[in-house]
This record gives sequence, structure tokens and C-alpha cells, in this order.
Amino acid sequence: MTSAVCFDLHCHSTASDGVLAPADVVARAAEHGVDVLALTDHDVTDGIVEAQAAADECGLQLVPGVEVSVTWNKKLVHIVGLGIDPENVALQQGLASLREKRLIRAQKMAEKLEKAGVPDALAGAMRYAGGEVLSRTHFARYLVEIGLVKDFAAAFKRFLSHGKRGFVGVEWAGLEEALGWIHDAGGQAVIAHPARYSMSRTLLGALMDDFKKAGGAAIEVVSSSHTPGEVKSMAEMTNKYGLLSSCGSDFHGPGNKWAELGRLAPFPDGCQPVWKTWADFERIIPESINLLSKV
Ligand code: AMP
Ligand code: MN
Ligand code: MN
Ligand code: MN
Repeated sequence: MTSAVCFDLHCHSTASDGVLAPADVVARAAEHGVDVLALTDHDVTDGIVEAQAAADECGLQLVPGVEVSVTWNKKLVHIVGLGIDPENVALQQGLASLREKRLIRAQKMAEKLEKAGVPDALAGAMRYAGGEVLSRTHFARYLVEIGLVKDFAAAFKRFLSHGKRGFVGVEWAGLEEALGWIHDAGGQAVIAHPARYSMSRTLLGALMDDFKKAGGAAIEVVSSSHTPGEVKSMAEMTNKYGLLSSCGSDFHGPGNKWAELGRLAPFPDGCQPVWKTWADFERIIPESINLLSKV
């Protein structure tokens, strides 16, 4: 019996809104049977050096990645970059501009939350930020900490989701702009959790069209935020739009709030995995393991 190679191409560390340090994410991934892991923090690549050192130690293959915040058609869309060079200047300048927007947004969010009766939210959220990225997740942790809401879901539902009292809209990177940074850095672009955007199939199709025209490579067919039905329907869309398939847990930390590393459904028949285009595919996936016939 051959053992399948386990790919998890989407997760977070304390460099953005994850709970574990990059080295601990890698160690946990290895414990959970992940062979190839992409660390894809929101708008930052600062965790990659530490993650790479940990990966070298435990023999896991690390793919340097990032999850870029994009505004397309007035909607928030997340674009994962896989195999990026973290030293690339265009990418780093782009990500720095997004982190700046996050900081300005956080100040405005704190002002709005103050008016909604939530004290000291900026300082409270910043205490949870382990790096340069200030996320709504950090505000959610603070809201739970002070007992205003019982959990994350309630924090987003009552204060942080679109249109709620603590919400501040931002014009993030443009789609072509974000793909430009990722490609400049030698990476492949992947639409993260496409079924999560509450878009009609027509609108999602328009996004995939624009994405493909801008040189996008793949979409996440398998994601912790997709139901089995959505996995199937995203697989169909890869065929229609000529895109490869990726998979990722979107792990943010241990516990039942978040998906676990490496716990991913297989691709439906007919999907072409994003890794089949990787130059070092043969090195990552020994020939003895017939992965393509499995997926
Ligand atoms: P931001 O990028 O700072 O706007 O924050 C978005 C992050 O918040 C996402 O990456 C998720 O980790 C988290 N998030 C968004 N919506 C929810 C939700 N309804 N419940 C829990 N976490 C959420
Ligand atoms: Mn997140
Ligand atoms: Mn995302
Ligand atoms: Mn994510």
C-alpha cells in the first residue's frame, strides 16, 4: 500500500492572526502527517524564516506563501501566493502598503467600537498581535477577553462583520495588482476559499475570468470553509475556467474553533493539482507514490 502525500497549502501563524508561532505550526503540521505545508499569513511573510528552519529540522517541505487581501468588485477576496520569494521588493512593498491600511483601519475600528461602548479596543487588539499585522481576529480576541461576547463567532456577528458597529471598509489591493506582486516574486496565485464569498455563481465566474486573465493559476477546491457540495461545485469551476486545484486547512490554531492542519478531503475526480506544475514536483513527490491517480 502506498501512503499518500499530504499537502496543506493554507495556514496562519502569529506573524498574522494565527495562535501558534511559525515553528510550532510546522511541528504540529508534521505531527498531523502533513508532508508539504504552505505558510500563508495575511499580508506578511515574516514567519517564513522561522518556519523554514523548523521544516528543515523535521523533514517537512515548506512552501513559502502569503494570503493577500484584495478588493475585487467592491468585495473582499483573499488571494494566496504560493512559492513566492519573500525577499522580492515589489511583493514586500505591496504587503507593507496593506499593513499600513490595516493600521489605519484598526484606529478607525477602535473609535467606532468606543462609541459602541467598547473601551480601549486598539490597545486590547494590539496585545494579541504577534507581528506587524493587525487583524479583526485580534479585536475578536479582545472582545471575548473582556466578556462582551462569548466567542469569536459572536464577536464577528455583533461587531466585526460587514455592516456591524465595529466594521470599517478598506480598499485593499486590486486583483491585477496583487497578482502582479505574486508573479514578480516568482509565485503562483490561488483564489482562497472561493465558495466563502457569498457570490452568485455568475459573479464568482466573473472573478475567475478576471483572475485567469491576470495569470492566476488555481483555486482552493478543498478548504475547511467548503461543504462537500461546494468542493464538488468548485471542482467543476476549475474545469470551466481552466484553473488548477489547491487545498488548504486555513488553520489558525488548535481547538475546535478552527480547522486542523492536514485534515483535508481528497480532490474530486478530474481536478489537476496545483503542484503538478511545480518544477521540483518529482523531488517533492517520489515516483513510487502515484499521487495523480489518487486525486
Ligand atoms: P481581517 O483580514 O483583519 O479583516 O480579518 C479577517 C479574518 O478574520 C479572517 O482571516 C478570519 O481569520 C477571521 N474571520 C472572519 N470572519 C470570521 C467569523 N465569522 N468568525 C471567525 N473568524 C472570522
Ligand atoms: Mn485569518
Ligand atoms: Mn482567507
Ligand atoms: Mn487564511
